Amino acid sequence: MAMTLAASAEDTEDTREAAPGPTYDLDRVRADFPILAQKVHGRPLVYLDNAASTQKPRAVMDAIAACYGEYYANVERGVHTLSQRSTAAREGAREAVRRFLNAPSAEEVVFVRGTTEAINLVAASWGRRHVGPGDEVLITELEHHSNIVPWQLLCEERGALLRVAPIDDRGEVILEELDRLLSPRTRLVAVAHVSNALGTVNPVREIAARAHEAGAVVLVDGAQAAPHLRVDVQALGCDFYAFSGHKVYGPSGIGALWGRRELLEAMPPWQGGGGMIRTVSFAGTTYAPPPHRFEAGTPAIEAAVGFGAALNYLTALGLPAVGAWEAELLALATERMAAVPGLRLIGTAKEKAAVLSFTLERIHPHDVGTVLDREGIAVRAGHHCAQPVMERFGVPATTRASFGLYNTREEVEALVAALHRARKLFG
Ligand code: PMP
Repeated sequence: MAMTLAASAEDTEDTREAAPGPTYDLDRVRADFPILAQKVHGRPLVYLDNAASTQKPRAVMDAIAACYGEYYANVERGVHTLSQRSTAAREGAREAVRRFLNAPSAEEVVFVRGTTEAINLVAASWGRRHVGPGDEVLITELEHHSNIVPWQLLCEERGALLRVAPIDDRGEVILEELDRLLSPRTRLVAVAHVSNALGTVNPVREIAARAHEAGAVVLVDGAQAAPHLRVDVQALGCDFYAFSGHKVYGPSGIGALWGRRELLEAMPPWQGGGGMIRTVSFAGTTYAPPPHRFEAGTPAIEAAVGFGAALNYLTALGLPAVGAWEAELLALATERMAAVPGLRLIGTAKEKAAVLSFTLERIHPHDVGTVLDREGIAVRAGHHCAQPVMERFGVPATTRASFGLYNTREEVEALVAALHRARKLFG
């Protein structure tokens, strides 16, 4: 099944490009993901919960199996061969992250457990040093709890103020309001590249430029962007970029924080332990340079290796091609779902990633999720760790279908048909 891609995938987000090739071999891609070839409740699995976590290609499983089967040992400081091979494999994954983000140096890439830990690291280390009483941290109304709560904790501790730029009815950040909230007191602007609850692609380059003009540092939560868009931290002009392995077809428990070298070098450690020191004595301890300064303890070695393999897999497919295919699925789903009686789409931004949040009149989102599951269709129902977004749209929860690089047009049609049946079932 070779799908023809819209060659003119319209991207106002400047980190994306039109598809490089004319075809995207969906059958071949699906064959890379063995988990997809199964039935759930007697029906072919339709996996549409990709914004929560993506499935893993064989390349990732093979890389982890090779790590365990061929060269596993603890990393760093090992003189023996396996330790050196393990260290090299993990550092190879760091280089894969660097390439993936077009970061200037692999030394600016810190391995973390995921986006949540990356943001907490910046809040605890950079934040405690740079945010003081009366200072402000600016976020937006569409943030995931991971990009809200660490800043609330920091502001509470430091006597600083958390400001929130509102979104409009389409789910787009109101840039004039963001401008109004930026001030010489703003130390940091933390913003999602893509909203997990709405699909909105934020104009992060523009936001970063405005924030820098005000003298603020910019952190981008890239958890939902990395699987869909080509990310170039230099083009975006941000200072920190965080994302998670499990959302880019890699393992859970691993992710990356990229930070500008001069910022990382000036940051104090946030966790102490093995691996992050230069020398230790009771008179005083000195610390390793970044990235190791921020990687205390034995790391997730096999997960880093799998993470690197996932990024290489994505890069080989080509993010522009992936993005263009997902845009086709999103357009199809948006059009078909408009015909489902009582369906309200939450999040209708002009620039969207392949995430569809919706409510169905008179049916609780959890019931929609359960009905769909009976048909083998996996979606997520709830507040999606974005309760302020739910509040903004006056709903307690939504049902969310989110597409990945292996989803098909037939799966979109199966979702829509099941929604029509749910509609009839609940009257
Ligand atoms: N930010 C966004 C936008 C997300 O979608 C998520 C995951 N749902 C996170 C942050 C947190 O990522 P993780 O749970 O992998 O740390």
